[in-house]
Amino acid sequence: MKVWEKAPAKINLTLDVLRKREDGYHEVEMIMTMVDLADRLSFEDIEENKILLESNSGIVPNDERNLVYKAAYLLKTKYHIKRGVHIVLEKNIPVAAGLAGGSSDAAAALRGLNRLWNLNLTEEELMKIGEEIGSDVPFCVVGGTALATGRGEKIKKLPPVPPGWAILAKLPISVSTKDVYETLNLEEIKERPKTKEMIQAIERQDFLQISQLLANVLEEVTFKLHPKVKQLKKLLQQFGADGVLMSGSGPTVFALTNKESKMKRIYNGLRGFCKEVYAVRLLR
Ligand code: ATP
Repeated sequence: MKVWEKAPAKINLTLDVLRKREDGYHEVEMIMTMVDLADRLSFEDIEENKILLESNSGIVPNDERNLVYKAAYLLKTKYHIKRGVHIVLEKNIPVAAGLAGGSSDAAAALRGLNRLWNLNLTEEELMKIGEEIGSDVPFCVVGGTALATGRGEKIKKLPPVPPGWAILAKLPISVSTKDVYETLNLEEIKERPKTKEMIQAIERQDFLQISQLLANVLEEVTFKLHPKVKQLKKLLQQFGADGVLMSGSGPTVFALTNKESKMKRIYNGLRGFCKEVYAVRLLR
């Protein structure tokens, strides 16, 4: 038997860091949604009792360091699965980009193997297992639009965002999420996202308001470490986007618009400046 799963990238509409906890994690409050830029995974039974992972990415490892492998291993040991699986990962989401590609792959592996192995686990159960892999995995299990709190693992579903496009641009820079959180000085945060207002704007399906409320407290930190990311954000604003924000800890910056003509203008304008540009629909 063979099953397929899609693992979409996430973007942050808001990202706030409230405080540092005793366990070393940061308490966050963020609104996330998915875009139609996705990795694809297939899962197939094999004779030999092992996890065999293959991918087209020259960057991510194919062994136990891969979050897909981790997800498969966790399910296999927890539920005493004595069957082997061949997983093929088609990587389309840029790696270490602030788009939670790895977390989304892990979530897709949980969903896919739940089906392949007939485990009948509920969404809540898969989210709980996902927590062991990474803070963003529970959100990626559910998808859609949601408010994430705690260290990112507590999920409250929100209505879908109104239809629109995101133009994503990524400079050839690697940003370590750990470095960004370590550099962040909570006392230096000038402006915080208006999370409640953003939720209301989503409930009202007010695209312009959503675009205007985009905010991420990690932007200033990454901008300081990599000034070119700030320049890229300015450029996107000049092209006439309704709103522009860095996703996660970066370096990907995205612009929102609900007009196809604007989407095309921004996409074409950017391609001269930045090699990696994607114009994709917001997933609903
Ligand atoms: P986040 O927004 O959650 O911080 P990210 O988009 O910045 O995530 P990812 O692409 O999810 O970063 O992963 C970054 C790191 O995780 C890389 O060092 C990569 O080697 C490792 N990794 C493990 N498995 C995967 C995977 N399936 N896809 C991508 N990266 C993976």
